Amino acid sequence: MTIERIIEVIKKNNPQADVDLVKLAYEFAKDAHKNQKRMSGEDYLQHPLETAYKLAEMNIDLETIIAGILHDVPEDTDKTLKDVEKNFGKETTHLVEGITKLGTIKYRGLEKYSENLRKMFVAMAEDIRVIFIKFADRIHNLKTLYSLPLVKQQRIARESLEIYAPIANRLGMDEFKSVIEDLAFPYIYPEEHKWVLKISKKRFEEQKRYIKKIIKVVEKELREKKIEIIKINGRPKHYYSLYKKLLRKEMNIDNIFDLVALRIIVKNIDDCYRVLGYIHQLWKPLKGRIKDFISQPKPNGYQSLHTAVFALEGRITEIQIRTKKMHEEAEFGIAAHWDYKNKQDKNKEKFGIEGKKLKWIKELLDEQKKAQTTKRYLNTLKLDFFKNRIFVFTPKGDVIDLPENAVPIDFAYYIHTDLGHKCVGAKINQKMANLQTVLKSGDLVEILIDKNRKGPAENWLQLVKTHLAKNKIKLYFKKEKKLSIFKFFNR
Ligand code: MN
Repeated sequence: MTIERIIEVIKKNNPQADVDLVKLAYEFAKDAHKNQKRMSGEDYLQHPLETAYKLAEMNIDLETIIAGILHDVPEDTDKTLKDVEKNFGKETTHLVEGITKLGTIKYRGLEKYSENLRKMFVAMAEDIRVIFIKFADRIHNLKTLYSLPLVKQQRIARESLEIYAPIANRLGMDEFKSVIEDLAFPYIYPEEHKWVLKISKKRFEEQKRYIKKIIKVVEKELREKKIEIIKINGRPKHYYSLYKKLLRKEMNIDNIFDLVALRIIVKNIDDCYRVLGYIHQLWKPLKGRIKDFISQPKPNGYQSLHTAVFALEGRITEIQIRTKKMHEEAEFGIAAHWDYKNKQDKNKEKFGIEGKKLKWIKELLDEQKKAQTTKRYLNTLKLDFFKNRIFVFTPKGDVIDLPENAVPIDFAYYIHTDLGHKCVGAKINQKMANLQTVLKSGDLVEILIDKNRKGPAENWLQLVKTHLAKNKIKLYFKKEKKLSIFKFFNR
C-alpha cells in the first residue's frame, strides 16, 4: 500500500479535499514506525496504511483517515498522544486515543463477552468513527493472521466472529461484517471451511457464467423501458454466510438459490419498483420470495427489493434491486451517513447522522451526556443497547441475536424446528433451567429434548417472544387440528 493510492481514493470521492495533512500524517507515522516490522515480515507502516485505505474507500472524513494512519503510534512507538495532538489537533487525537483504549479488549471466554461489548459501545458512543477505524484495523490484522502463533490466531479470529461481526451487523455494515467473517472462518472452523470451498467451487463458476447471460437480457429489457442502470452485477455469496445457510438447508447446496444473486442498482425508488415489475413480466416469480425491504426495512436499516424468479432455462435466480444510496448504506451502514458535506455544515449535529433507524445511537449519546459517572453510564448503556436485543451463545460458541425477554423455547426454534417441538428444558450457563427462564446477554444455552415429545404446549404461545417461534408453534397446531378432524371423520 502506498500513500499515493490512498490520496487517489480520497480525491476521487472529494476532489476538493485538502490532503496536505494526510501527507504529513504519513511522514509522521513513517518516522515513528521506522525499523519496525510486522510478524508477517513486512514494514510496520503497511498496517496503518492498509487501515487508512479501507477508511478512504468508505468515503469517510479526513480526520478519520488520518487517525487511521496514526492509530498505532502512541501504543507501539516512542511518539505520544501529545505529539499527535501538537501536529494534528484535538479531533484526530481523540480518535487515536479511542483506538488505543479499545486495544485492551481481549476475548477471554464468556464472562468477558458483555464487558467487551460494552467497552465497544462506550467508545462508539463517544465517537462512532472509532469503531470504523477499529474495523479497518481488524480487517488487516485478520489478513495477516497466518503469521501469528496459533493461540493468538484463535483468540483474534474468535473475537472477530463473535464480537466484531455481530456489531458490524447491528450497525448495518454488511460489507465489513462479511469480510470479517470470511477472514476468521478458516481459523475457527477449518474443516467446515475446506468443505464449503470444495462443494461450492464449480457451482460458483458455473453460476457466474449464467448470471452474465441474465445480465444481458435484463440490460436490453431495461434499455427498452428507458430505465437507467447505475450498476448491474452478480453478487457471489460470502463463504461464511453460505456455510450458515447450508446448516439451515440440510447441508445441501442444491437448496441454495442465491449463490450468485443478480444485483441491480438504479437511480431512485420509483425505478426500483418499475424494474421489479418488468422483471416479473419477463420471468415468473417464486411464491413467497418477493420481499419489499424498501417499505419495510430490516431492523438494522437495510433496504432493497428482493425477488426470486424462474429465469433463463427455468433456473431459480435471486434478484436484488436498490438505489445507489441504499447500496452504500447496505455496505457501510451508518458510515454511509458520514457525509463529507454534512460535516462541513457546522449547524448539523456533530455526527451528521440522520434518520430514525439510527435513533438508538442518538439515544446512547444523550444518555452519555446525562450520566455523570462512568459507572452510571455503563449501567444506562447496558440498558439502552440491550433494550431490544440480546446475544446468547450456543454450546459451540456461535452467537445468536434474540429480542429481549426471549426464553429458551425461542432459542430452540431459532436453531431448528424439531429442537423447538421436542424441547423440555434447558441448561443455562451449565445450570438446569426451565423453559420460561428469561435469557440474558452472554448466556450459554443448551436445549434439552425428549425424543418422544410430539410437539409444543399450547401455553408456549404466551411465553415466546420471537415471531419465528410463534409461527412454528401455530403451524404445528394448525396441522394437528386438520389431523384430528380427519381422525374424527374416519372413526
Ligand atoms: Mn493496528
